[in-house]
Amino acid sequence: MSELRVRFAPSPTGYLHVGGARTALFNWLLARNLGGTFILRIEDTDVERSTSESVEAILEGMKWLGLEWDEGPFYQSASFPLYKEYVPKLLDAGKAYKCYCTSEELEARRNLAMQEGRKPKYDGTCRELACQPADRPYVVRFRAPQGGVTSFDDLIKGVITFPNEELDDLIIQRTDGTPTYNFCVVIDDATMRITTVIRGDDHVNNTPRQIQLYQALGFPVPQFAHVPMILGSDKARLSKRHGATSVIAYRDMGFLPEALINYLVRLGWSHGDDEIFSREEMVQKFDINHVGRSASVFNTEKLLWLNAHYIKNGDTARLAGLLLPHLSKRQVTTLDGPDLATVVNTLKERAQTLEEMADRAAFYYNAPENYDEAALAKFDKELLQAVFAAVITKLSSTPATGAAEIDLLFKDVCSENGWKMGQVGQPVRIALSGGTQAPGIGEIVATLGTEETIRRIQKAREYTGAR
Ligand code: GLU
Repeated sequence: MSELRVRFAPSPTGYLHVGGARTALFNWLLARNLGGTFILRIEDTDVERSTSESVEAILEGMKWLGLEWDEGPFYQSASFPLYKEYVPKLLDAGKAYKCYCTSEELEARRNLAMQEGRKPKYDGTCRELACQPADRPYVVRFRAPQGGVTSFDDLIKGVITFPNEELDDLIIQRTDGTPTYNFCVVIDDATMRITTVIRGDDHVNNTPRQIQLYQALGFPVPQFAHVPMILGSDKARLSKRHGATSVIAYRDMGFLPEALINYLVRLGWSHGDDEIFSREEMVQKFDINHVGRSASVFNTEKLLWLNAHYIKNGDTARLAGLLLPHLSKRQVTTLDGPDLATVVNTLKERAQTLEEMADRAAFYYNAPENYDEAALAKFDKELLQAVFAAVITKLSSTPATGAAEIDLLFKDVCSENGWKMGQVGQPVRIALSGGTQAPGIGEIVATLGTEETIRRIQKAREYTGAR
């Protein structure tokens, strides 16, 4: 086979959907696995619905996921002259014809066919016109083969066969001279020398028409791989109704690109029972023949599990950088306060998303204004006063910097006073962070520093003493 060339061809009518991202990923993986070329083509022939904001959103999503393309982006709107060149070729060869039927006539015939229980297909009125009216508007229709079948061996779905009688004489050029969707796709895929078309299976029905066009134009027919849809938990096609579907929304919700990529690759593709794949492993192991035939259900829990895995194992400095926008969103600035990487280290073990991490990081930079009253109420006032006083004394009198060392100081406070760790650790955690959802005491104190720790405990001491 000639060198592999694949493409991702989104229509810029919205953001990059996770389904589209998975199609892009499969294309990218196949290209990287086989040393092929990955092309990005923006299918913006529908000028009414295509927007430049959407193009930007798609490019942003692709870049964030690290799906770098080798050629493009190519815009269909810039290729109209190319598509137009092929229309006279087909007309001259008798493989297309001008059709003068008006939309009213077509509508009336369609209604009649439906009434009579026939398929509402173009009836071929202009197929064999002896003389052509020079002054009337026309569309150009493809002269589709009438008998027989059009068949292809889909890399995912196996052999798919369509009886030709079910296929219309497709309009390839509208009255205003603009080319239509399927025609543009075929000319692009052919001139870009695409060898394998990987796309969503909502395009299966376009494929026989496209194959007929390839054949009529004398182009080699590429291989096809139609990827099954992604469904929501109710088995309906995944849509906004089920939650976020945009790649960028996942970024903003604090997912890491490697987690989303890992999640998406397993949505339809498998390699034994493996769940975690680095980018390199995916590239090495990906095989389009191992993409399943049935639709997959989007499972947010599993995506969260993968995200937690990648956060836990992620490079701390990088995570700190990625966390910054989530902190800014909360008006948390990190200029005064502990080093952000140190903070991340105390939180990465337990955070499922960067949003959650930002929520939990905020207290390091903004001392609590309120306390979790329900949690405080579990301790009586005298105990709180005694604990706070003992901890302040211990921390001011014994220099300790590392988390482990500080944990030992707290143990000493417990044993010296006959308290349990829960009686000391929890009140101090509330004093330092406002709540009980915080890392280990030694880690917090080491990160905040003794001075700030004492200041916060003192404040809590005054607050609880005055209640
Ligand atoms: N532009 C089409 C879409 O966004 C994809 C067409 C194709 O891949 O052939 O669904």
